[in-house]
Amino acid sequence: MPLHSHRRPIANTGIEVSPIGLGTVKLGRNQGVKYPTGFELPDDRQALNLIAQARDLGINLIDTAPAYGISEARLGTLLKGQRNDWIICSKVGEEFENAESSFDFSPEHTRFSVERSLKRLNTDVIDMVLVHSDGNDLHIINHCGTLDTLAELKQQGLIRCFGMSTKTIEGGLLAAEKSDCVMVTYNLNHLDEQPVLDYCAQHNKGALIKKALASGHIAIEDGEDPVQKSMNFLFAHPGVSSAIIGTINPNHLSDNIIKAEQALK
Ligand code: NAP
Repeated sequence: MPLHSHRRPIANTGIEVSPIGLGTVKLGRNQGVKYPTGFELPDDRQALNLIAQARDLGINLIDTAPAYGISEARLGTLLKGQRNDWIICSKVGEEFENAESSFDFSPEHTRFSVERSLKRLNTDVIDMVLVHSDGNDLHIINHCGTLDTLAELKQQGLIRCFGMSTKTIEGGLLAAEKSDCVMVTYNLNHLDEQPVLDYCAQHNKGALIKKALASGHIAIEDGEDPVQKSMNFLFAHPGVSSAIIGTINPNHLSDNIIKAEQALK
């Protein structure tokens, strides 16, 4: 079945996303990343073509973050004239400057960051905003007020839904309870966070998958079609709303869609 006919709701927000999303780390940053090989950032023509291809293949979800270098600012230009075709997901909490990450989960920084993302993305509203965890999920949720601030920004209409990209099971479960959506790592080599997906399936929460191919390491593993195996694995779980796959290679993009469609049959 074509990807166009698959859209998955994010909780009761009215937002519906394609089962594959486009990750954009590689549009904005090539330092301090954990991919199997180095790469040059695509130029504007290549990036525009990639985005057009993704859209034509049925993808409506694009994932970015302030911590992805120039990704947000580039999308602000690249998505001109097609804003309504996209569900944009961005983040708060992590900054990446001079090749180093730093974190600020305070209400002040959260508000500042969302307002800055609105400007960079050249839009009036961001569809999804996730807390970009540094790993201390429970501390952030219980003591930093980040999710509360995002709830206020949602009420004010600056964002349409919110949640958290977590790194622990406990954090994922609590974030899912307190928000619309989580983003978790889930792939053939990392099943630890599956309980979070179980919770999302049972409680009608959105769940985005990061590192579905273990940042590309699974795709180059020996054995029979690791990408198809990955797609079959991901979409066997009813909690998965969308797998955000980061690619700047048009052949990989179409390969991923064909294999996702096969898995979703
Ligand atoms: P990923 O999607 O598991 O892997 C991306 C890597 O796989 C790229 O190097 C890509 O290379 C390669 N690839 C993709 N499709 C392929 C195919 N069909 N065959 C061979 N290689 C393939 O990992 P990720 O980029 O780390 O994560 C995906 C997205 O999730 C990111 O872009 C980002 O939006 C989000 N993310 C969020 C967080 C967070 O904390 N919130 C953390 C990490 C990632 P090519 O470009 O050559 O295709």
